[in-house]
Amino acid sequence: MTSIENSYGHPLERFHASLANLRAHPTTFTLEPYNGCSQGCTYCMYNQETNQQKKPSVSHRDMEELREFLMQSDHRFITSIGHSCDSYQPLERRLEVTRNILKVFNSCNFPVLLFTRMQGVLRDADILEEMGNKGLVEVVSTLISLDEGVRYHLERRSPTAEQRLHVVRELARRGIPASFHLTPHIAGLNDEKQLGSLLRHFQNAGAKRVYFSLLGITSSIESKLLQALKAINPLVEKNLMKSYWDIENCGFYQVSESLLIEEHEKARSICEDAGLEFFSEQIPVFSKGNGHEGIYRFKLPIIADFCTYFQERKKRFIVWEDLMEYLSHFDTVNKEYIGKVREYWDTAQLFKNTFYHPICQGENICYSQQDHLDLTKFTLPRRE
Ligand code: SF4
Repeated sequence: MTSIENSYGHPLERFHASLANLRAHPTTFTLEPYNGCSQGCTYCMYNQETNQQKKPSVSHRDMEELREFLMQSDHRFITSIGHSCDSYQPLERRLEVTRNILKVFNSCNFPVLLFTRMQGVLRDADILEEMGNKGLVEVVSTLISLDEGVRYHLERRSPTAEQRLHVVRELARRGIPASFHLTPHIAGLNDEKQLGSLLRHFQNAGAKRVYFSLLGITSSIESKLLQALKAINPLVEKNLMKSYWDIENCGFYQVSESLLIEEHEKARSICEDAGLEFFSEQIPVFSKGNGHEGIYRFKLPIIADFCTYFQERKKRFIVWEDLMEYLSHFDTVNKEYIGKVREYWDTAQLFKNTFYHPICQGENICYSQQDHLDLTKFTLPRRE
C-alpha cells in the first residue's frame, strides 16, 4: 500500500464508494475546493443545505499538504475537482483556491477532471493550457438546454447557455480538452430537434464528448423540482413522475427501464450524428468513444471498460480470474478497489445494465453473455 492509500480521505476523498461511481467514474479521488455552491440549482442533489445558503465556504486550503500527498504516490491517478460544488465559486476571484490547487497538480504532473460552468475558469487558462499540452486535464461544463426559460427555472444563478458555450469554445481554441455534461437529462424537456441542436452546439464549441445521465429525484428536491418543471412545461411535469417510483420507499425515485433505454438510445444516436463521443453514467454498454486518451491514461477502469475488453475478446463466460487478469493492467487498481469490485461481483450486481448476466457455478458467481441487457426488472405502479 502507498502512503496515499494509508491516508484515506485526507486531503483527497476516495471516490469509489458506490456501484454508480464504479459504473461511471474513472477517477480515483475527488477534491472539493469549496463547500456549497452559489448556483443552487433546483435539481441539485448535492449539498442541498449548503447550496441553499448561497454562501459557499472554502473546503481545501493546505496546498503544501496536497503537494506532499501527491509526491508520495508511486503512480499517477485522476482527481475529480469540483464534482459536487462548482470549482469557480464567486469567492474564487479573491481567494484563488482552485487556481492554487491546479498549480499543485500541474507542478506534480497529476491529471485532473475539472468541473465548472463558470467563466472564471478562463482566468486559469495559462495553467490549463500547460496541463492540456501534457494531457493532464479535461474541463467539463454542464448544459441541459439552450432555452433561457429552462435556465431561469432550474439554474437561475448559473451562466447562460451562450456563456457556457463560450467558455468551452475558448478552452478548445487554446488546446485545452473540454466536454459537456448533459446531466441531468430530463425526459421531454428537449424534443429531438432541440436535443439535436444542443448537441451540435456542443460539437461546434469544440467539445469532444458528452457525459450523459437521466435526472435523479429525491424526496428533498421533488416538490421544488416539479414546481419548476410545471412552470417550464406542464406536460413535462405531468408525464415525468409516471416514469419514476420510490420502490424501496427510501426517498430516492428510480427511473423506469423503458424510459432509461429510450432516452439513452435517442441521445447516443444524436451524439453520433454530431460526431461526439457518448459516455453513459448509467448504462455502461451505451458508452461509445475512446476512453483511454488524455487524462484517461491514468484512469481506474469502469464497468464499460470491463465489458468492452471481454466483448473484444469474444468472451461469452467470465470467471473472477479473467477479471483479475484484466485489472492487473492498471497501476491505479489497488486492494481497496478490488475489494469493491469483488463485493459487487459476489452480489451479482457488477454487470447490471450490461449484456453479461450473473449465473451460479457451484457456490461461485460467474457471468455469461446474453443478447439482451441485464436490467433489474420492476413494474412501476402508475401515478395519476
Ligand atoms: S452548479 Fe452543480 S453543484 Fe452547483 S448547485 Fe448546480 S448542480 Fe449543484
